[in-house]
Parts: sequence; structure tokens; C-alpha cells
Amino acid sequence: MSGNGRPRVLILGGGFAGVGAAQKLKDTDVEVVLVDKHDYHTFQPLLYQLATGLLETTAVGHSLRDLLARHENTTIHKAGATAVDLDARTVSFDELAPISYDYLVLGLGAEVNFFGTSGAAEHAFPMYTLRDAVRLKDHILGRWEAADRDPSLVSEGALNVVVVGGGPTGVETAGALAELYRGDLAKDYGGVSEEDARITLVEAGPELFPMFKSKLRDYTAKALAERTVEVRTGALVASVSPTQVTLKSGDVLPAHTLVWGAGLQGNALIPSLGLELQRGNRIGVGTDLALPGHPEVFVVGDAAAISDPKTDTVLPQLGSVALQSGEHVGETIGRTVAGKETKPFAYRDKGTMAAIGRGAAVMQMLGGRTMTGRKAQLAWGTVHLALLPTNSDRARAIVDWAGAAATHQRSGRITVESS
Ligand SMILES: Cc1cc2nc3c(=O)[nH]c(=O)nc-3n(C[C@H](O)[C@H](O)[C@H](O)COP(=O)(O)OP(=O)(O)OC[C@H]3O[C@@H](n4cnc5c(N)ncnc54)[C@H](O)[C@@H]3O)c2cc1C
Repeated sequence: MSGNGRPRVLILGGGFAGVGAAQKLKDTDVEVVLVDKHDYHTFQPLLYQLATGLLETTAVGHSLRDLLARHENTTIHKAGATAVDLDARTVSFDELAPISYDYLVLGLGAEVNFFGTSGAAEHAFPMYTLRDAVRLKDHILGRWEAADRDPSLVSEGALNVVVVGGGPTGVETAGALAELYRGDLAKDYGGVSEEDARITLVEAGPELFPMFKSKLRDYTAKALAERTVEVRTGALVASVSPTQVTLKSGDVLPAHTLVWGAGLQGNALIPSLGLELQRGNRIGVGTDLALPGHPEVFVVGDAAAISDPKTDTVLPQLGSVALQSGEHVGETIGRTVAGKETKPFAYRDKGTMAAIGRGAAVMQMLGGRTMTGRKAQLAWGTVHLALLPTNSDRARAIVDWAGAAATHQRSGRITVESS
């Protein structure tokens, strides 16, 4: 119990899942404490737009204090959780005194997985955090400036980019980079041919987007080819150095940039809980999203392996799964505290989609219906608007997206030194 006699709900992580839980607890009779290692919520689906200069940092990262400002029962701290003691019901932090809880919501998300690829941890550019996106943008702009000063760098691959991963993160990033390259950067730094600034998408499996129907895969391949992205399927990255990428086949791709969009693993804190974990270090939960044996601990979003009884599969690591699972847990705790009955979690599938570039997107709905092109892009926008945390964020996103679609101006293509 907190000092004021109300049960304390400790939420770890201010992503879609943690914020969803906090929003549903707003007017309930509990004390909410949300702790995140950042002071912002990251809208990951737009990271690639930040990395390619289409959006500003504040269109993708949203202040958590701002988001939850009207929640009178909520306190926010910026600190990293370092240990969870499930028996003592206490969480320890790096720069904050331990906090005890009556209910714990684990919404810590996932982390990039380099699958032990040699040199990847040191030299690859992952696409998972706000910092990753800004770092990638600065690096790419830095390479173009370096090649401008010393054109001999071009022949050693200074401007080439290899993107790893044929899922949505890899395809969306490759498509956006190609549009940045063939549009603004081609104009900014005239005289560089397409062959000297190549975007290669590498996928270990036999095809891109294995989760989609073949007609959507064909559409994607065509849309990427139109944007001059070279696709290499059945190709595994063996090692990465600052200037080249070596494939398992022995082929060497000269490239100063390797973007890693290939895999995720559970948050680093999760293995320390001593639980039996599922694939990708995710924590298996019951239909109420509680940890088996710990009805006061809930796991939500990317950190959780949530089985969908409708399809008998584990739900994918998606924003809508995270938001809905977080909201469900917020409701469950609110109802429990109020002495009301709770319900099992039921996921409302809004379809699977990806945006490949301007006017090019794919969408597949639960029943198998598909959409491509502008229609799919509009559907992508509608679904993702719903993921934004507040109405003012939605209003702002509509203005940003409409502006970007109309002008396609990437005004974010500047680098700001922080020291
Ligand atoms: C590049 C990219 C594109 C994507 N595109 C889409 C898309 O188009 N559509 C879609 O539906 N989904 C998309 N996703 C997936 C979606 O973004 C995730 O499924 C979703 O963000 C998961 O939400 P979450 O709250 O579980 O975790 P996260 O959003 O990762 O939030 C976890 C939070 O926990 C915090 N945290 C982590 N460790 C600690 C710690 N030790 N202490 C304190 N705080 C900590 C982090 O700072 C973070 O704020 C994309 C993901 C990526 C990476």
C-alpha cells in the first residue's frame, strides 16, 4: 500500500503498453508510479521517418510528463530498472531508491538481437530507439559530407547502405532511404550516380514479408525495385566492419552503413527474473496477462508472449498488441481494486501492414482481404493514428504527415552536434 492507503501500481516502461495501462488507471482509486529510463515515449513506427529526415525528433518522441500531466494519481520517474524481487514485491533502479508495489506492470519492451553476428554490435546501426534513428541519420549525412570532401571515398562504398531484414522494419527503412537518396541527397550532392550510392536489402529467408500473401510480396518487390533498392534474399550476413559487409556466401558488399532491422530479443532485465521464458526471451502470460503464480504481476507488450485463443498463435510484437494489452491490464487492475469482475484479454486485430514509400504500402486483414498503394497507405495512417497517445498528438501527426506527403520535403536532414 502507498502512504495514502491506496494500492500502488508500479509500471515499468512508458512505451505503448505502459502508457496504455497508465491511461486506463487515470480515474481509479490507486497510486500509479511509472518509471522509464527515458523521459519520453517513443513512437517506433515512425523511427524510419526520423532517420530519413522526414520528421523531427519531437514528432516521434513524446514527453511522458506531458502525456500524463492530467493524471492526478500518477508520478513519473526517469530511471532504469535494474532488478525485480517478485517475492519482496520491490523493484530496484540505477538512480532511484527501490519502489515497492501492490501491482506491477512490466512493459519493458524488447531489444535488438544481432544473433551473434561478428562486428554487428560495434558497427551496425540498429533501428529500435529514438537515439538509433538520430544516430543513423547523422551517420548517413556524415558519409555524404565526407564523400563531398573526398570523392575517393565513394568507390570504397562510403555512400552504400546495406539494410538487414526483410520484415517491416527492414523494408520500410530501405524504401525510405532510397527515396531520401534519389530525391534530396541526389540534389544536395549532385554528380553521384545510382551505382555509387546503392541501397541493398538483405534477407536470410527465401522471400521478403513471409507473413503476407504472395501478391503483396510481388507488389513489395516491384515497389522496392522502382525505388532502386536491390534485394538479396537467401543471404546471411556473416560479419560487419566499418567499411564492408561480408555475406556467408563469401560475397563482400562495400558499405559504410549497415542498418540492422532483423531481430528482437526480450529486454535485458527479463532473463534476471529467473522465469522460464518463451521464444525471443518473452514472458509467457495467462489470458489475464498475469504472470503464472503472481496474480499481482502483469506483463504487456513486446515483453510478453500472449497466446491468441482465436488463432492459437503467439501475438506478434506490434504497437496495437502492446497498446491493447496495456489498456486491458489497466482496466483489470482498476476493476479488481473496485471489487468488480475482470475479463480475459481479447485482441482486436486491425490487420498487418507496412509502408514502403510515398504512395506505396501493403495491408492484409484478418480475413485475408488485401490492399496496396494509396488505399493501404491511408489505412496505415488510420491505424497508426489510433496508436498515438493523445488527441493533440493525432492532430499534429495529421499536419506533419499531410505536409510530408504534399511536399515530401525532408527538412530534418541536418546534423546537430551535442558536444
Ligand atoms: C523500427 C520499428 C518499426 C515498427 N513499426 C511498427 C508499425 O508500423 N506498426 C506496429 O504496430 N508496430 C510497429 N513496431 C512495433 C512496435 O513499435 C512495438 O511492438 C511496440 O513499441 C512495443 O511496445 P512496448 O510498450 O511493449 O515496448 P516499447 O515501445 O519498446 O517500450 C518499452 C519502454 O521501456 C523502457 N525501458 C526499457 N528498459 C528499461 C529499464 N530497464 N528501465 C526503465 N525503462 C526501461 C524503454 O525506454 C521504453 O520506453 C515497430 C517497431 C520498430 C522497432
